[in-house]
Amino acid sequence: MGPHRRGHCPRGHGPLQAATLLGKTVAHCQSCKGLWLSQPVFREFLAMQARSVLEGGESTPSKAVSLPRTSMMSARALCPECGNVMTRRVYGSFSGILIDICERHGVWLDDNELRAIMRHIVIAGPDFARQLLEGR
Ligand SMILES: [Zn+2]
Ligand SMILES: [Zn+2]
Repeated sequence: MGPHRRGHCPRGHGPLQAATLLGKTVAHCQSCKGLWLSQPVFREFLAMQARSVLEGGESTPSKAVSLPRTSMMSARALCPECGNVMTRRVYGSFSGILIDICERHGVWLDDNELRAIMRHIVIAGPDFARQLLEGR
């Protein structure tokens, strides 16, 4: 792993590009399709999906998506903002989705992980959706 470069892809692909997703500004990597979301934007995306589950708008989970083999990628992802090694964690309790988190700055999602998380919220159901909204 080379020295930390601010605003660069944690998977080592160079500068992240700004993009708009669901009305929010995010950063993404054109090489690996990874997404960098600030903590508030990540929480807002989760809340949007949780509200949608509670309103009954998302009763059918979207199609399963295939995830990249994160475990085979470089073990340590550095936060694009502070350069600290991010914490790798399974999202939720049983999703199997591994995400990299800097508690201070944001969340790194590899290709398809945001879609997988959105799907997981639907599958986990209303109780999980309520916890998400209350835990904000
Ligand atoms: Zn990348
Ligand atoms: Zn950070």
